[in-house]
Amino acid sequence: MTDIPYIGRFAPSPTGPLHAGSLVAAMASYLDAKAHYGQWLLRIEDLDEARTVPDATGSILQCLAALGMQWDGEVVFQSRRKALYQAAFERLSANVYPCGCSRREIADSRVAGIASDGAAVYPGTCRNGLPAGKAARAFRLRVPVMPEPDECIRFEDRWVGPVVQHLAAEVGDFVLKRADGFWAYQLAVVVDDAEQDITHVVRGADLLDSTARQIYLQRLLKLQTPLYLHVPVVVNANGEKLSKQTGAEALDLAQPQKALIAAAQFLGLPIYRTQSLDDFWQQATAAWASRF
Ligand code: GLU
Repeated sequence: MTDIPYIGRFAPSPTGPLHAGSLVAAMASYLDAKAHYGQWLLRIEDLDEARTVPDATGSILQCLAALGMQWDGEVVFQSRRKALYQAAFERLSANVYPCGCSRREIADSRVAGIASDGAAVYPGTCRNGLPAGKAARAFRLRVPVMPEPDECIRFEDRWVGPVVQHLAAEVGDFVLKRADGFWAYQLAVVVDDAEQDITHVVRGADLLDSTARQIYLQRLLKLQTPLYLHVPVVVNANGEKLSKQTGAEALDLAQPQKALIAAAQFLGLPIYRTQSLDDFWQQATAAWASRF
């Protein structure tokens, strides 16, 4: 038993039904909350209207319920919280500038290096004002050029261990408001995690690279930094992260216990059989609690 306050969350993007990969992220965040006697909130990250699939939210909620994963409180939808992102954006305005570069121009530039996620580091083309002939598309946050190694962003990931990122060299000035007018994930997630008093973020390792940007935004906005734990991501036979784009299949809810056991084993939990959903969650919570 622990008496530290714990508020965790699962934050799916409603781009399709839950699959084996998203179940792993959901399960890890759920187990961590249960093992700490904490709350587990559900936030639907539906800001990118072009990627949002009608009915995906309903199917995610139904699937979580069918797997015995009950969330606390009301489900939060990012699409209803745009005023909060606007307010945070205005607080950052001294460090924000309009950028007229297209994706292609940035990808082709490569002068500033390649980030760990394979994207080109933003070369700073519009940093000192839009060049003649360019119109504002996105809005970027100016990242200080931090020459000292001890000015890197550092954090201790509860799964991965120590992480260090030099934002200027490895990411560059990053987008807060996208060219299509949508708020960027990095801004929305920081605003929401703080506004929902999230103490522990548990999610897939595909977002490990985003964490330093989020910590940097938290510092600028004077918000608390939660603890982070990034679990490995499930990949398909081609080594690609399971996702709707890579053709991941929806979970088979006719056999919920089978899906749960597979996800638990992926997380390294020694669970081989179960009598019922309740029994599964008891075993899994105990196994998680003995590790974290
Ligand atoms: N919405 C993101 C996703 O589905 C997760 C964001 C987060 O957990 O910070 O990949």
